[in-house]
This record gives sequence, structure tokens and C-alpha cells, in this order.
Amino acid sequence: TYVVTDACIRCKYTDCVEVCPVDCFYEGENMLVINPSECIDCGVCEPECPAEAILPDTESGLENWLELNTRYSAEW
Ligand code: SF4
Repeated sequence: TYVVTDACIRCKYTDCVEVCPVDCFYEGENMLVINPSECIDCGVCEPECPAEAILPDTESGLENWLELNTRYSAEW
């Protein structure tokens, strides 16, 4: 899955939401998040993010962000 990280906080762009083929972006408290169980790992959103906030969870050190994406997207 891909995860949204802190560069998204208070970002006003929604380019990622528009390109996602499975609509798995949700609104968190002050940022967008990706629902990891819905994300199909297509990678389309990553280059679309002007804040470079979207990263694949294969990168190290993203455990906390993955947890936050999971939690916020589950509230919907
Ligand atoms: Fe949506 Fe693809 Fe990005 Fe996952 S990787 S959030 S499916 S655009």
C-alpha cells in the first residue's frame, strides 16, 4: 500500500484523490489518508502529489504513518 505522510498536513491539493482508480483516499483530522486495505498499489497518486507526501510503505520508518492512515480511514 501507499501511505500519506506529514507533508500532506494542511495541504489543499486533492490531485491524488482525483487520480486514484479505487477512491481509497479519506479525510483525516488535518490531512488526507489512504485506506491500506483498499489501495491496489498502482502508484498513480505518488507523482501527482505536489507536496510529495505519498510514499510506498516499503520505505523504512513509515510504520507510524501507516498506522495513522489505517486508523483515520477506518473512521469512515
Ligand atoms: Fe489509489 Fe493507486 Fe495511490 Fe493506492 S497507489 S492510493 S490505489 S492511486
